[in-house]
Amino acid sequence: MIIVLKPEISKKDEAAVLKEIRRLGYRPHVMRGVARTVVGAIGDERTHRTLEVLSSWPQVEQVMPVQKRHKLVSRDAHPANSTVKAGKALIGGTKFHVMAGPCSVESEKQLLTTAHAVKKAGATVLRGGAFKPRTSPYEFQGLGEKGLKLLSKARKETGLPVITELLSEQQADLVAEHADILQIGTRNAQNFQLLIAAARTGRPVLLKRGLSMKIEEWLLAGEYVLAHENPGLLFCERGVRTFETYTRNTLDLSAIPIMKKETHCPIVIDPSQGVGRADLVTAMCKGAVAMGADALLVEVHPNPTEAWSDAAQQVSLDGFAKLMHELRPFIAAAGRDF
Ligand code: PEP
Ligand code: MN
Repeated sequence: MIIVLKPEISKKDEAAVLKEIRRLGYRPHVMRGVARTVVGAIGDERTHRTLEVLSSWPQVEQVMPVQKRHKLVSRDAHPANSTVKAGKALIGGTKFHVMAGPCSVESEKQLLTTAHAVKKAGATVLRGGAFKPRTSPYEFQGLGEKGLKLLSKARKETGLPVITELLSEQQADLVAEHADILQIGTRNAQNFQLLIAAARTGRPVLLKRGLSMKIEEWLLAGEYVLAHENPGLLFCERGVRTFETYTRNTLDLSAIPIMKKETHCPIVIDPSQGVGRADLVTAMCKGAVAMGADALLVEVHPNPTEAWSDAAQQVSLDGFAKLMHELRPFIAAAGRDF
C-alpha cells in the first residue's frame, strides 16, 4: 500500500501514522518529495490487516493499493494460459470450442434434435437451461430436474459434455450430477455463496459477467472459485447493460484482450444474450474469434420462433451450420485448431 500524507503535516502527526502502520503489521518506508511525503507500507495484505482504515485519518490524503485485489485468477499467479477439462473437451488450449444448444430445455425431441445437429456442425459442448432465471415469475421457469435428466440423456447419445445453469446453492449437487460445466448466470454473478457452492462441487464453473459489472468485480467474483480450491474457471462475457436499444445488451468484446492480459483463465463469448438478435450472432462470433476468445456459447433452437425463452436470439439448426462454416477461416486465422 502507498499512503500519501497531507501537505504540511506536522512531525507528530506523521509519527502517529507511521506508528499505526507498524501496529497493523507493516514496515513503513518514508519517501519525502518536494511538496509532500509518501509512505510505502511493506507487507502482505493477505496476511496483515488492511490499511484502508488510514484513509479516514485527517493526516492522510490517499491510500492506494499496489498489489492487485485479484490474486489467484491473475496472470501474476499463473503466467501460462490455464485449461479447463469438461468431458473430452479441453477449453483454453489451442483448440477452439463452440458450446451450443437451446436457451431452455423444452422437450426430449427438441433437445435431442438440437444436440445431434450442433454436434454434426462442429459444436463440442451442449448447452441447455433446465433451471431458468426469468425476469418475470409468469414466464417459463425451465423443466427443472426433468430437464437435467434430458441433458444427461443427450450427453449419453451424443458424447457431448453438457453446460447448464446453477440457480441455487441447494441444487448444487443435483445439477453437478448431470452437468459437466456449471453456468453461473449474469443475475447471480456476485452471489458469492452460490459461487462457493458451485466451486465445491468440483465441476468447472462458467461465470457470466454481471449485467453492470466492472471487469475488476468480475475477476474478484471468479477469485471465489479458485479460492475454494476449484481451478476449473471460465469467464463468459455476455453483454452489459447500456443506453443502446438496437441490441438487448452491449457485447463488450474489448473484455477479451483485457481479460487475456489480466487472467490465465479461458474466456468465452456469449453473443446470443450479448446482442439478443439472431441476425447479429454470426458477426459477433467472428469478432470474438478474431479478438482471441477461447470458446463461444451460442443459443440454437430447431424452431426459434416457437422457443419458450429467448426466441429472438436463437439461431436455427441450418443457421448454426452456416455460422460454423463461416467461422472456420476466422478460427484458422486466429491460429486455433478446430
Ligand atoms: C442463458 O444463458 O440462457 C442465460 C440466462 O444467460 P445470462 O445469465 O447471461 O442472461
Ligand atoms: Mn437465453
